[in-house]
Amino acid sequence: MTKILKSNTVGIKEAAEILRCGGLVAFPTETVYGLGANGLSETAVKLIFKAKNRPDNNPLILHVSSLEMASEVAYEIPVIGKKLLEKFWPGPLTLVVKKSDKVPVNVSAGGKTVALRMPDHPIALSLIKEAGFPIAAPSANISGKPSPIEAGDVLSDLDGKIDAVIDGGKCRVGLESTVVDVTQNKVKILRHGAISLEQLAELLDYKPEIDTDKSLIDLHEIKYAPKCSIKLFTLDNAPFIGVKDGIVALSFSPPPSIFSIKLSSLEEYAAKLYSILREADKKNIKILYMEKPSNSGIGAAILDRLQKAESR
Ligand code: AMP
Ligand code: MG
Repeated sequence: MTKILKSNTVGIKEAAEILRCGGLVAFPTETVYGLGANGLSETAVKLIFKAKNRPDNNPLILHVSSLEMASEVAYEIPVIGKKLLEKFWPGPLTLVVKKSDKVPVNVSAGGKTVALRMPDHPIALSLIKEAGFPIAAPSANISGKPSPIEAGDVLSDLDGKIDAVIDGGKCRVGLESTVVDVTQNKVKILRHGAISLEQLAELLDYKPEIDTDKSLIDLHEIKYAPKCSIKLFTLDNAPFIGVKDGIVALSFSPPPSIFSIKLSSLEEYAAKLYSILREADKKNIKILYMEKPSNSGIGAAILDRLQKAESR
């Protein structure tokens, strides 16, 4: 049985103790729920891959609560990386840097780099501080399922497979972090996420490169796969929907159906995307028509997830 812990001091202390003993605890962050283990223990990290059924060639993000902690697991943080973290940490930006010897081989999937992030969530930060080590944490779902944005989602995938989950309510952003490679002292976007290309460009005074060699992330990325089939549409190409179909619209009020959702902003789209996918499956929707967001701001990250869900 997976224990449900309260998001208070007692719950956080108990969660930290489980992590110190090599166990697995899911916890809320501002992006999605993470499945945490001691990020300095190869044995503990191994359990994450097993619980999630995650391919072992997919590296994990280490979550830190301070710059000192980040510096211990990084061989170096380049100047450009420091500039980014000064602006966006704590927050949904993950930096890929050269790793130090302290990073277990399975965290970096055998590579020479490590992905680091300081989450902007009081429970996540308190848990990392209380544990005293970086916490390795991918999303707390079975690989290939939509990421969890509340404790109930975690339990529906992982109940009985992990020691505990801290129930901290719904996640604010609802989509994973933006991943950028800074090892070459320039910024390359590996995965779109909650920090947009425009926000990065404003700080950098240039448009960061987007990884065109998609092989790495495509190989690793989950398929964000609900059971229903996803079909994307635009306003000038709006679909006729059948009685068993669902529709999610952003720029107009969709006709009523058994699953008809109107979203009013890109932020709301991001925050609700994964729960919409899970809900559509609970209602046995066959086809879910979803309006394409614009490819700017957080829209790029939403579109990326939608296209993966559509093309699987
Ligand atoms: P998740 O934790 O499931 O949101 O996935 C983490 C993402 O970060 C995956 O797409 C990984 O491929 C990527 N990632 C983690 N570590 C590295 C790394 N060292 N180099 C490149 N990408 C990484
Ligand atoms: Mg994930």
